[in-house]
Amino acid sequence: MKICIDPGHGMSNRQSGVFDPGATHVENGFQFQEAVIALRYALTLKDALRARQVEVFMTRDDATDHTPVGKRAAMARSAGCDALVSIHLNDFDDDSANGVEVLYGRAGSEGLAASLQTALLAATGLRDRRIKQRPDLAVLKFDGPAALIELGFIANDGDRARLLSADTRDAVARAVADVVIAQLRG
Ligand SMILES: [Zn+2]
Repeated sequence: MKICIDPGHGMSNRQSGVFDPGATHVENGFQFQEAVIALRYALTLKDALRARQVEVFMTRDDATDHTPVGKRAAMARSAGCDALVSIHLNDFDDDSANGVEVLYGRAGSEGLAASLQTALLAATGLRDRRIKQRPDLAVLKFDGPAALIELGFIANDGDRARLLSADTRDAVARAVADVVIAQLRG
């Protein structure tokens, strides 16, 4: 069993040689970046999967790996991955928007998305924004089960505080690892 973990955004995501921070939010002069927080969650998930003897392929390991968004699903395919999990934070003009949602592309990934959503609500305690089908998203054009997690809203004070906690990160990593392994073992 091999899982692709895709930390959203990063170097060359949208444009070659340009770092794409994803959603950003400034608080007391400090800029929070989606790409940085998503990578931290992805690395914690990698550890959780490896602790369960599951092989992991990362589309990027740091802020310098060149990873165009249009190539990520193909990278996972060439690496021989059985499933793909992409990790993002959400963003909206209105800072009151909050909650967790999971996006999926192909109908066959709906079960994975639903199980992830249930587990993430328990792990984060954040609001349920439900699962959504988004076949247009390039990263979800993967042959096996694939889901994109929107952990919460970076500009929402409640969501951000929760997501910056190491306890939440550990709980999310454990929950996602358990769900993905259970899905693949069917
Ligand atoms: Zn994103």
